[in-house]
Amino acid sequence: MRRTPPVLRGARRIAELPPYLFAEVDRRIAEKRAQGHDVISLGIGDPDLPTPEFIVRALQRAAEDPPNHRYPDYYGLRELRVAIAEWYAQRFRVALDADAEVLPLIGSKEGIAHMPTAWVDPGDVVLVPDPGYPVYSIGTLLANGEVYWLPLREERGWLPDLRAIPREVAERARLLWLNYPNNPTAAVAPLEFFREVVDFAWQHGILVCHDNAYSEVAYDGYRAPSFLEVEGAREIGVEFHSLSKTYNMTGWRIGMAVGNRTAIEALGRVKTNVDSGVFQAVQYAAIAALRGDQRWLEERNAHYQRRRDQVLAALRRAGIEAPTPCASLYVWARVPQGYTSVDFMLRLLEETAVVVTPGVGFGPAGEGYFRISLTTPDDRLTEALARLERVQFG
Ligand SMILES: *Cc1c(COP(=O)(O)O)cnc(C)c1O
Repeated sequence: MRRTPPVLRGARRIAELPPYLFAEVDRRIAEKRAQGHDVISLGIGDPDLPTPEFIVRALQRAAEDPPNHRYPDYYGLRELRVAIAEWYAQRFRVALDADAEVLPLIGSKEGIAHMPTAWVDPGDVVLVPDPGYPVYSIGTLLANGEVYWLPLREERGWLPDLRAIPREVAERARLLWLNYPNNPTAAVAPLEFFREVVDFAWQHGILVCHDNAYSEVAYDGYRAPSFLEVEGAREIGVEFHSLSKTYNMTGWRIGMAVGNRTAIEALGRVKTNVDSGVFQAVQYAAIAALRGDQRWLEERNAHYQRRRDQVLAALRRAGIEAPTPCASLYVWARVPQGYTSVDFMLRLLEETAVVVTPGVGFGPAGEGYFRISLTTPDDRLTEALARLERVQFG
């Protein structure tokens, strides 16, 4: 007898996630490659430069020590939490209690995705910037929260207009995501803006989650602040940070959440129930990274800055003016007149086999812009830019 298998389906919260916008774009890139073209992607924000030697050595040593092969402590090595607190004190003059205000993460994406599970009940509102890192909204949807988009606009320096949030939305909001230096717009936020955010969050009882992944990737002497530097921030805020972009360690999976102890405890409770912490050898490597001489970062940032200037000059020669970013790994530019961001991306792919990221992929308010990442190896970047310059848009 032949039996028909039952029809299975995944959870509604998965089926209802927004469709992946780039499926068609990815297909076109694959097609171009299949035709034998040498496609160069300037789309991916993942440092091509290696993790510094001294950090790799620390991992090697720790990996050879059997106690590190076992389950790590849920809340991380105390020595790591202390190293994170010391780094915050030194870098931002923010004092943190290593036992209650610091939580190591398996990369900050993990913590960002889990935060709504710890903080948001079904139907609660989460305020999410548009354009923005997709995990803020996806994590909200996975927790059955409701996303309220905060459009970021060029004329406001890509800072959300908190006064434009309707009162009833603000009253229902439980969490606000922010990210400066920003991905994808490369905008930075002045401390005055963070002060405004603190007032708003105090007024409405909202937890502010600031994603500071790019604070150490800065140019022309710019020093990005921590949200926690502002008075009153720790009472309503946490900051997510990561070793990924700071130390060229995206593959290692280690980051941290710091700040408000109630929020840190709630996130920690979710994590103790779903994961078992960061490989201890990676934690020792992170301690070495945070405690090591930080001067190499200047040289690394100078390297990105040379690429940034090279990208801006090439765009200018192609007839595209873009603002000069003072932080992050991105150049964010307006697409030429007459194109949507996807049309523009497809034309570049067609004529030059170079891939840029269409702004609309980061949210509807990203339409009209595109992003170029500074993490392509020098020779490939040079080749890609030489091809771009041959196209005229101006
Ligand atoms: C890269 C990035 C992160 C860092 O992710 P990890 O999981 O720590 O590697 C976080 N937020 C934004 C906006 C990013 O671009």
